[in-house]
Amino acid sequence: MLEVLNPATEEVVATVPAATAQDVDAAVVRAAGAQTKWAATAPADRARLLRRFAAVVDEHLEELAQLEVREAGHLIGNARWEAGNVRDLLDFAAGGVERLSGRQIPVPGGLNVTILEPLGVVGVIAPWNFPMPIAAWGTAPALAAGNAVILKPAETTPLTALRLAELALEAGLPEGLFQVLPGAGDVAGNALVEHPGVAKIVFTGSTRVGKQIMAKCADRVKRLTLELGGKSPNIVFADADVEAAALAAPMSYLDNSGQDCCARTRILVQRSVYDRFLEIVRPAIESVVVGDPSDEKTQMGPLISRAQLERVRSYVPSGAGIRGTAPEGPGFWFPPTLLTEADADAGPESPVATEEVFGPVAVVLPFDDEADAIRLANATEYGLSGSIWTRDVGRALRVSGAVQAGNLSVNSHSSVRYWTPFGGYKQSGLGRELGPDALAAFTETKNVFISTESPEA
Ligand code: NAD
Repeated sequence: MLEVLNPATEEVVATVPAATAQDVDAAVVRAAGAQTKWAATAPADRARLLRRFAAVVDEHLEELAQLEVREAGHLIGNARWEAGNVRDLLDFAAGGVERLSGRQIPVPGGLNVTILEPLGVVGVIAPWNFPMPIAAWGTAPALAAGNAVILKPAETTPLTALRLAELALEAGLPEGLFQVLPGAGDVAGNALVEHPGVAKIVFTGSTRVGKQIMAKCADRVKRLTLELGGKSPNIVFADADVEAAALAAPMSYLDNSGQDCCARTRILVQRSVYDRFLEIVRPAIESVVVGDPSDEKTQMGPLISRAQLERVRSYVPSGAGIRGTAPEGPGFWFPPTLLTEADADAGPESPVATEEVFGPVAVVLPFDDEADAIRLANATEYGLSGSIWTRDVGRALRVSGAVQAGNLSVNSHSSVRYWTPFGGYKQSGLGRELGPDALAAFTETKNVFISTESPEA
């Protein structure tokens, strides 16, 4: 059984049976049957059903959001956005069903066409940090492209995923087409990865587990998308609006209590404005409102679990750095923290500056010039996101070109929109999700040549 705890109170919210490898076997059989019929359904009907699913999610938006607050400790405002994001992902994917077309390529002696075929059964393995949106990143386009989906949510956050599966049925999606199997990663997750009937794995989670899954998929040349960890830079040049950059910096790594693969946890500031940046950022961090996630005034909630809290603590010497506040008592609380050069063990090569902490902790490091900023920004095995603050358009373009990451933003920290592509360079991932090509990632391209030669010729 999986015990789901409210991270803000440590109360048990629910217990959920954990799927076994046999449950996965049975789910794959059901999914394969449903997929064959789904792929043969007229595109307009598939699109209509997905739109209906989106509408039913919208009708249950508040319920889903409240569930996310209880099982993941997300702020209620964020949780409402997340449920709305699932709706939007389904609508966007539905819009692609009738547009998922192959090409006609000129060749001599006949007609050459490409056909985009669904893969079959897709396994989506999701993390706990954004349980609803990330589940839908894989699920919505996979269904739209004619596949069946088996979703394995994270052990700590199965409830919204289970509810989404019920809503799919309520919307009229065929039985077996979208199934949710909560369970342990190394049991249910691994069974999906190893199952010969699962054509593709979409994995979002840690780089460590992603590598293991990639190795197992290699055995069968199983299709794979990986969305992994990050250690993203936030580069502030002296020619930027330094005040705006400093005021935006805290929430760029404190949102979702820092449990965000895109968190800008390495703040790189040009030396000439370093002290000014710190002067502005200090009160901004100290005044972040940390507490009850269901209170709309709260800016940061708890961490997901005690294990995560202990992990975050292990990176930060007691009392070090610029600190905000956090509640005492039950719940997995850690204050907003920014470590500077002056703190012990917070230099550019320290664990806290190079490893993904996945908590409300960032380091701020000075740099000398553009080349130095790029060198520091790229001095990581990760390459997911990053931000560049400058008023110089040429520099913004040069540095965007030089930073090895899949998602950059200039003079802002935005990075994930369902209609723009998202994914990592280096050890942050493999493949892209979202954006205009999202459905194509769930197809095989078949090339067919039809001879027009006459047998009489
Ligand atoms: P995790 O790797 O521990 O687990 C992710 C999922 O994989 C869970 O569902 C887990 O049960 C499952 N799993 C674990 N071991 C498995 C195995 N051997 N076989 C199959 N499945 C297995 O990650 P987490 O702690 O849940 O999530 C946090 C991580 O996710 C962070 O590293 C974060 O950066 C990353 N993340 C990346 C993105 C992105 O888009 N790049 C987005 C969100 C989170």
